[in-house]
Amino acid sequence: PIIPDYLAEALGDVEPDTSGEPAAYIPELAAADPERLAAAFATVDGRVYGAGDVDVPFTIQSISKPFAYALALADRGFDPVLAKVGVEPSGEAFNEISLESGTGRPLNPMINAGAITVHSLVGAGNPGPAERVERVVHGLSAFADRRLAVDEEVCASEMEHAHRNLAIAHMLRSHDVLTEDARGVVDGYTRQCSVLVTTRDLAMMAATLANHGVNPLSGEQVVPKPVVRQVLSVMFSCGMYDAAGDWATQVGIPAKSGVAGGLIGALPGRIGIATFSPRLDRHGNSVRGVSLFERFSSDMGLHVMEVP
Ligand code: GLN
Repeated sequence: PIIPDYLAEALGDVEPDTSGEPAAYIPELAAADPERLAAAFATVDGRVYGAGDVDVPFTIQSISKPFAYALALADRGFDPVLAKVGVEPSGEAFNEISLESGTGRPLNPMINAGAITVHSLVGAGNPGPAERVERVVHGLSAFADRRLAVDEEVCASEMEHAHRNLAIAHMLRSHDVLTEDARGVVDGYTRQCSVLVTTRDLAMMAATLANHGVNPLSGEQVVPKPVVRQVLSVMFSCGMYDAAGDWATQVGIPAKSGVAGGLIGALPGRIGIATFSPRLDRHGNSVRGVSLFERFSSDMGLHVMEVP
């Protein structure tokens, strides 16, 4: 088994690195086992390879952002979404309280301001908050080809401390970027972030992006092809927040991280990659996840700007 052996060896190499800290601002996440470690590859023809804790569930957190963005674009079309959320890298932290000067839009859909707005745009023909969450969970499940569920404990734990996201949502409401109750949108967004996935699921979700929106297992076209191009472009420029430039040069794969320790990369036409390790660096990206992706990229020549 060449690929599983390779993955296991890579995990062994990064395992001794215990630097970084699990996210502390969501108490339930701080309680997670920091030693968990996993990596998985899913090819566009539906083969999945994994090593380590690939079947251990954790919350998707910000990795939900590119998928919710894809659903909003698919449900509403490009213009209404682009009118409300830009596509410029912010160079700021994921939870920065900021809007684009002049337009008052969030800079991009990968930071919280943009993602909270995107959540409000999922679903065709103004669905209510509960229907919208159902559309998100259903859509994320189609990307994974497995029915996913919300971790109610993590969701409640985050909502109790969601002052910053509530501040962002109220700011969006005051600029009429949000046109409904701010708390309700943050509640839905937090449920979106609390969807439970495994590293194997994330690799498959990434593979669906790599496979122009068609899930490699079910064959379902989850979102249209032009939507996937848009999503991967924004992941490339904004997916790693204020580390996006370093990532683009060092790793060169459209990617997204989450504060529970997950990390995905989608290589168009080739593979979806996912890693899981809860300790985070100062940008909120998984320390061992970043190391693993650096290694995968250099070992296999995965940088998208490199001629194969
Ligand atoms: N739910 C988290 C938040 O909004 C997601 C952040 C992240 O994963 N970077 O703060």
